[in-house]
Amino acid sequence: MNILYQSTRGGEKDVTASQAILKGLAQDGGLFMPTEIPKLDKTLGELAKKSYQETAYEVMKLFLTDFTEEELKQCINCAYDHKFDTEVIAPLIKADGAYYLELFHGSTIAFKDMALSILPHLMTTAAKKNHVDQEIVILTATSGDTGKAAMAGFADVPGTRIIVFYPKDGVSSIQKLQMVTQKGDNTAVVAIRGNFDDAQTGVKKIFADKEFGQELAKKGFVLSSANSINIGRLIPQIVYYVYAYGQLLKNGEISDGEKIHVTVPTGNFGNILAAYFAKQMGVPIDKLICASNDNKVLYDFFSTGTYDKKRDFLLTISPSMDILISSNLERLIYLSTDCCPQKTGELMADLAEKGAYTVSEDMRQRMADFAGGFATQQEDKDAIRRLYENTGYVMDTHTGVASAVYQKYKADSGDETKTVIASTASPYKFARSVMEAIGQGELPEDEFALIDKLSEVSGVEIPKAVEEIRCAVARHARECGIQRMKGTVGEILGL
Ligand SMILES: *Cc1c(COP(=O)(O)O)cnc(C)c1O
Repeated sequence: MNILYQSTRGGEKDVTASQAILKGLAQDGGLFMPTEIPKLDKTLGELAKKSYQETAYEVMKLFLTDFTEEELKQCINCAYDHKFDTEVIAPLIKADGAYYLELFHGSTIAFKDMALSILPHLMTTAAKKNHVDQEIVILTATSGDTGKAAMAGFADVPGTRIIVFYPKDGVSSIQKLQMVTQKGDNTAVVAIRGNFDDAQTGVKKIFADKEFGQELAKKGFVLSSANSINIGRLIPQIVYYVYAYGQLLKNGEISDGEKIHVTVPTGNFGNILAAYFAKQMGVPIDKLICASNDNKVLYDFFSTGTYDKKRDFLLTISPSMDILISSNLERLIYLSTDCCPQKTGELMADLAEKGAYTVSEDMRQRMADFAGGFATQQEDKDAIRRLYENTGYVMDTHTGVASAVYQKYKADSGDETKTVIASTASPYKFARSVMEAIGQGELPEDEFALIDKLSEVSGVEIPKAVEEIRCAVARHARECGIQRMKGTVGEILGL
């Protein structure tokens, strides 16, 4: 079966998977969606026997129908290899009654590696298939993790350049170090004087700027995106939910067909949307528990039906979730309108013009699989400490939000359904907040002395990604205001 893609706002139709990946964002500002969500064509029992790479093929082949078997397998094998520090790629760890799906074993130790390890391969394959001879310029806004993971994937990939914008004061010290030390002649990193939403809105504006697009085309460049607005990010993320279910089944933790919940620490709504896709494909997932930090715009949305971004943007100890405009929610909105581009477009226009929109009762019913929750910074820290004290397992501050929200959900509902918690980053990436949470007395000022201490406390080996930046030199010092993003892109590309 051939799956085509269309914009959530109706402006583009009949786009192949490879074209959708190349474009990133649709011309009308909408996001690409498949015309239908395919069903898995293997049983859960069969899938449980498969490796991560084999599972990836079974899932992705159903969406990327214009890739040949050989092309897709080649992309998968190049992505999920020794860059990951474990053969199983995404281990499932049982701790304190929940299952932590560790998605941080890739080269930049955050879950973004799960999709960004393969996106460059999908994109270069797509470029070949579509006879693109321009240089692909990946523009990326990051709340801290996407930028590094995207650069790790695209560094020195022939025919590509990558430019990353991150909020100057909105990332952890390790995240910042990881980005400014990035190697690769085709990489550029820019700190913006603004927050993540400013960065993301700025990037979307550059995409929508037709004149600028033409100017770029004249110079032999074409823009694409590595943000989760790209369908090439979303599809690889479905894989680990299918895989996690298979692992639970294989290990005898659940019976075939038994329903599970998933809890996902959420920012741009990409990761949890992938879990929803897995459910639509036939994985027995019951509730999708959407965990927010103090920027709880999604919690409020699921509790009231009104999405309202008009509020203060708060900087928290889970910076990768400090977001007020969750781009991928547009895809759920679209599905909940029964795929109506007019209605979706109207709501998104309300968001852009009035800063808020309200969905109909009917749409809310269709989103009933989602349960919203949020955790304050104190609750986050308490959850990290409690899990550490009970089990010795150390989780990061984003996973801590999910864990806290899940515990609250369980206590309030009495619902004991087995639950997978997406564990989205290594605690090493947020070492200071994690060490403060688990209460290790006076902490060293020096970031790497702190890292060493975390290693002693957790008994977990320091990941290569952290060792690498211990002595690395900063290579990127660019900074700009939010009004200057387009100009900065022009400078970097030598327009
Ligand atoms: C990006 C990120 C999130 C949020 O994921 P979304 O797909 O944007 O909802 C959560 N935790 C970490 C560590 C991240 O890097």
